[in-house]
Amino acid sequence: MGLRIHFVVDPQGWCCMGLIIFVWLYNTIFIPKVILFPHYEEGHISAVAILCYYFCSLFCIASLLRASVADPGKLPENPKIPLTEREFWELCNKCNMMRPKRSHHCSRCGHCVRRMDHHCPWINNCVGEDNHWLFLQLCFYTQILSSYTLILDFCHYYYFLPLKKDNWDVFVCRHELALLRISAFMGLIILGGISGLFYTQLMGIFTDTTSIEKMSNCCEDISRPRKPWQQTFSEVFGTRWKILWFIPFRQRQPLRVRYHFANHV
Ligand SMILES: [Zn+2]
Ligand SMILES: [Zn+2]
Repeated sequence: MGLRIHFVVDPQGWCCMGLIIFVWLYNTIFIPKVILFPHYEEGHISAVAILCYYFCSLFCIASLLRASVADPGKLPENPKIPLTEREFWELCNKCNMMRPKRSHHCSRCGHCVRRMDHHCPWINNCVGEDNHWLFLQLCFYTQILSSYTLILDFCHYYYFLPLKKDNWDVFVCRHELALLRISAFMGLIILGGISGLFYTQLMGIFTDTTSIEKMSNCCEDISRPRKPWQQTFSEVFGTRWKILWFIPFRQRQPLRVRYHFANHV
């Protein structure tokens, strides 16, 4: 993947991604301002709760931005195909270029992507071999952040002691209820949507099947697990170190496994 920045020109994708960044920004600004800092100042919660919130928020935006600008696995113009692997390559009838099997042509991006899973407008990018791990991290941290936000919204009303509200600014004081209702509404929508997506993504990796392969339903035995889950996950995340599967601040090193060729699309 290297440090190349991949940028998809798609106004619809920009709008979707802008919406996601707005939701993130809204909660990262208002939850600490309305709930975390006031309750910390009055001794109802510890600083660890604030640190954890910012930590989740940072991991969430880092995986979003990285998944969005990472090269998903675009094929080079003239790929060098090793002689021994020729039989595992095929011609794309849309862009007339050679590609490894399990690649797919993304009509939105206009090129072929290695082991493409799907095109995601919410990150305005394809999800392919080189950024699938970042997409999974994004789903994971988004679920944690939205759950944490919903728990805080709930505790603020039903569990924490009432605030004296001496230090609140006028805007927050006037709109407290609306601010938290909007936050809870967005939290529920995002958590509901992402949880289903994350589950199908995990099942896809367990069975070593991409979303496109599942939809095309070309092979009857495709849902049967072929490899141990540790191996399929290691291949997606580019490392066998499980702790690194959760870290978005690193470079992915492809494992030298000829797994492209395990299935045919
Ligand atoms: Zn193509
Ligand atoms: Zn695409």
